[in-house]
Amino acid sequence: MGKQLIDTFGRVHRDLRISVTDRCNFRCQYCMPAEGMKWTAREELLTFEEIERIASIMVERYGVDSIRLTGGEPTIRAKLPVLIEKLANLGVDLALTTNGATLAGQAQTLKDAGLKRINISLDSFDRDRFVELTRRDDLAKVLDGIDAAVAAGFDPVKINAVMMRGINDDELLDFAAFGRDKGVMVRFIEFMPLDAEGRWSNETVVTQTEIIEKISATYPVEPIQRSSAPATRFRYLDGQGEFGVVASVTQSFCDTCDRVRLTADGQFRNCLFAVDEFDLRALLRDGSSDDVIAAKLEEGVLAKWAGHNIGQVTFIRPNRSMSQIGG
Ligand code: SAM
Ligand code: SF4
Repeated sequence: MGKQLIDTFGRVHRDLRISVTDRCNFRCQYCMPAEGMKWTAREELLTFEEIERIASIMVERYGVDSIRLTGGEPTIRAKLPVLIEKLANLGVDLALTTNGATLAGQAQTLKDAGLKRINISLDSFDRDRFVELTRRDDLAKVLDGIDAAVAAGFDPVKINAVMMRGINDDELLDFAAFGRDKGVMVRFIEFMPLDAEGRWSNETVVTQTEIIEKISATYPVEPIQRSSAPATRFRYLDGQGEFGVVASVTQSFCDTCDRVRLTADGQFRNCLFAVDEFDLRALLRDGSSDDVIAAKLEEGVLAKWAGHNIGQVTFIRPNRSMSQIGG
């Protein structure tokens, strides 16, 4: 076996998340402030060639086999299908996380370029609430985007729904029903303290336990054997599909985490909550060899901590918002 990106706790890293832009056409309350975001200047963004170079080193030298494109909103980066084609050629399981608003016109093109999997974020079916949460009146576009993704043949289409107490947790069963009716897989995500406005508190987190209790009281379910994926999955006993819960807060999966991240401005992060970053863009632009870049990747992974400690006094909030890290 070749080399691996392995940390001091023995975790092998095979999953790379790439933020292709920190810009977004939404301003979700739980992700970025309404005003005052400073976007990365174009020349500071990694080019597609630079992204491809980092991804190739990770795939070819370290056996990374899964890449997810995220943002900001990845679908607003110009010529995204060109990048998808380059990364699909590396032979990895290539996925995208999107808010879905521009998907109606793009889903088929992304699929044709080689995208394998898609997650679409949606937190409310109520138009006014959607506007309040995302600060954009785009619910209809997102619902059309979901239909377009299904029509393009992504299977399963996954829906990411961040559950927040007193904000949208009354729609939990509507999400379950939507998933069952549309044949899409809803993944409920516990609210994490990366909201730009600091509204998060332990009380705002709708826990995995509550989510399962509420859904199974209406639609009986059974657990599905856990894989390395962060979502705990449940199957509806009547055969109408499944749902997942990403319990990053109450049942953190740090001990099996196999993810590393690349920000839109070329910083390597070993954790969503990392405080330190490793500057790959500088190396990409000063003529450094692949060996030097590879050494920086190894250094970054070796520095990874055991876990994030959310809810404990030792937790340190990273100084980037979720939209700058990529979720
Ligand atoms: N713009 C794309 C989207 O919304 O899907 C991709 C980037 S977004 C940062 C990635 C994911 O992070 C989304 O599913 C979003 O709901 C989730 N997210 C953002 N802020 C979050 C928070 N504070 N807690 C939990 N999930 C969050
Ligand atoms: Fe944009 Fe996604 Fe963040 Fe919403 S969650 S502001 S769509 S990056």
